[in-house]
Amino acid sequence: MAPAPPAPPASARALPPPGPLVIRGGHVLTMDPQTGDLPAGDVHIANGQIVAAGPGLAVPAGTPELDATGMIVAPGLVDTHWHMWNTLLRSMSADPSGPGYFKVMIGAGRAYGPDDIYASTRLSCAEAVSSGITTVHDWCHNVRGPGYAEAGVRALAGAGLRARFSYGVAAGHPSDQTMDLGGLERLHRDWDACSEGGRLSLGMAWRGPGGSNPAVRVPASVYRPEIEAARALGLPVTVHASGPLTAQGQIATLAGAGLLGPDLQVVHANCATGDEVAALAAAGTQVSISPHSELLIGYGLPRTAEFLAAGIGVGLSVDSTVLTGNADMFSIMKVTLGIVNALAHDEFAMTHRQVLALATVEGARSLGMGEVTGSITPGKRADIICVATGGPNLGVLTDPAHLLVTAAQPANVDTVIVDGRVLKRGGALTATDLPQVRENARRALAGVRARTA
Ligand SMILES: [Zn+2]
Repeated sequence: MAPAPPAPPASARALPPPGPLVIRGGHVLTMDPQTGDLPAGDVHIANGQIVAAGPGLAVPAGTPELDATGMIVAPGLVDTHWHMWNTLLRSMSADPSGPGYFKVMIGAGRAYGPDDIYASTRLSCAEAVSSGITTVHDWCHNVRGPGYAEAGVRALAGAGLRARFSYGVAAGHPSDQTMDLGGLERLHRDWDACSEGGRLSLGMAWRGPGGSNPAVRVPASVYRPEIEAARALGLPVTVHASGPLTAQGQIATLAGAGLLGPDLQVVHANCATGDEVAALAAAGTQVSISPHSELLIGYGLPRTAEFLAAGIGVGLSVDSTVLTGNADMFSIMKVTLGIVNALAHDEFAMTHRQVLALATVEGARSLGMGEVTGSITPGKRADIICVATGGPNLGVLTDPAHLLVTAAQPANVDTVIVDGRVLKRGGALTATDLPQVRENARRALAGVRARTA
């Protein structure tokens, strides 16, 4: 008799089945304008899809039930820009006498191997699931060679999240050298084997003319062939345009070169001029705002209200926990709303539902995933969270949108469902072996530190 094969690592174990399930009796914030709120509603899921949302739903006999009485049921939260590869370096850029975010990130990033990308991305995914983030845009700007992008994609696949993986340069890649377009083309060619039935999609994380790292100035002879290659493959593209010292005129440069478009996401855009805002709107280009990192690194205040007034699609994002510490979309919503109201000197310049929309339905739309996720709408994939209200920071169920934006914390997230799979239930991760993920991350960081020194 042949010996039993070794057990797969727990972090790579099979994901739970995609339903069926009926969520009963929660206050359902569908974020679907046709349906609105269902104060005591049910959501029926089957085959990874939302079948129906309404009160007292009849479902096939034997459908498992999840009692959401007293909970807020909402679409899963959508992140639109997150460097998941560098979560190992969480809070390492804080020392004022140190080199700061970019040098810490690039210095350590040079020491990464593919296993470090995997370990960091798995830790990021564990935090995302735990925090109620069901869709992530993994902005991977540390693809250092064969196996790096694959490691990131493998981590996303194993964690069960809905994700776009955007393939970028290596951290510290010379500005005068084109990124590894061959590697991107190979990953695109083989993508069917990676896509998990469409749960994962591919994009390009582009430097553009340079605009997040002060040390990066990329000539047109390098950046133009890169975006043209992505567009030839039909891939969406994302690019930073950050603080006033580093990115002034970058959006104008892209507009003048005819490179803006609805397939492009610009990250931050804090320094955009009025003309640049108009150019983004005219081109249908999306913007991702990451208020915590923009505040903490000194890019200035997010321009959320101006972008929305111009009709630009806006999503919210984590960016990098090297800077921001955590991936708490509840606090991202709250600070986004607070800055809009503060700048307007108006308590009601932005409503809680408007900012909740940015973290759900509008964020999904800004990633081109609006038909797939972002609201509790029959036919969309089943990406849903249930937030318990029993904790001391909640305790009452008043205005559910206000509670999610101002009071809720990741610890209140009771249940997380992605693509119909229950990834968190009763406050516990069901498909992630957190001790193993944590141990892998600690081991990876020790190695990265040893090789960086
Ligand atoms: Zn970023």
